[in-house]
Amino acid sequence: NIVVVGSYVVDLMCRTPHMPKPGETVLGGPFKMGPGGKGGNQAVAAARLGSNVTMVTKVGIDVFGDEAVRNFEKEGINSTYVTRHGEESTGAALIAVDQDSENMIVVALGACGKITQEDVSDAISSFDEANIVLIQLETSIEAVEKSVHLVMELNKPIILNPAPYQEFDEELLKGVTYITPNETEATLLTGVDVKDENSAREAAIILKKKGVKTVIITLGKQGCFVYDGNDKGRLISGFNVDAVDTTGAGDAFNGAFATYIARGFSLDDAARQANAVAALSVTKVGTAPAMPYESDLSSFLKK
Ligand code: ADP
Repeated sequence: NIVVVGSYVVDLMCRTPHMPKPGETVLGGPFKMGPGGKGGNQAVAAARLGSNVTMVTKVGIDVFGDEAVRNFEKEGINSTYVTRHGEESTGAALIAVDQDSENMIVVALGACGKITQEDVSDAISSFDEANIVLIQLETSIEAVEKSVHLVMELNKPIILNPAPYQEFDEELLKGVTYITPNETEATLLTGVDVKDENSAREAAIILKKKGVKTVIITLGKQGCFVYDGNDKGRLISGFNVDAVDTTGAGDAFNGAFATYIARGFSLDDAARQANAVAALSVTKVGTAPAMPYESDLSSFLKK
């Protein structure tokens, strides 16, 4: 059982022949709507790998909120703790993509930026049943802090994916079992310019000193660096694939890593599985819709 506390936003994506200048209206298209947000994406990744997932998030009382709940249910994700905000609208990302695949994105977190301590406390029975709790920073810091404290009291493992980076009280890191920054986030957290195995090791040592138990730094197509302080840590190599869209790779990685840690895999084995799932996700366009199923993963690993 995995509990995800995090964001849901609806992705509103429109192709454009060129990026509009301020004040300009461009006739573009096609338009596509889909589920997004790091929390929701990671929940979908885990559910498609066969995990029992409960989502804790907040949406608005609007059509996008209804669509969010419908989508969670379609993916087999428990939506009991998807609450509704009376005033804020459901989070939304306005995405324009031009002919060179360059994008411009505006995100309004809306309701999911307003998850309260009470919302998290109300989900305590799901925390109690969880093998692991997975959180990101794409929501209110109070929801992040409350989750870490609850999980500490229950003595369960927690994965903090510090994405997107925002400042928080570093005391919190003492309650974090696994932290999973990408290169940019690891750099912002430690001041080390993280780009390869050696710089990742340097950053991991710093994060470990701040109180995190285990550090996993994702390094794009190189794979990830894992460090638990028992030895020098190591690079777990990524898989070679033809990447068509790398958005959501980190989300695939986190949903998968949570899944395999919850199933009792070793750190290295869970990281390798997560690399494979994330590699599969970059071979498809989109975020949540690009997440592979367990059967896709087993045929990929057999090859
Ligand atoms: P983010 O998506 O948060 O920026 P990364 O770029 O580090 O995070 O990617 C997360 C994981 O996705 C990597 O650790 C790796 O396993 C996988 N990955 C990312 N890009 C590629 C790629 N081009 N080919 C294969 N795997 C990839």
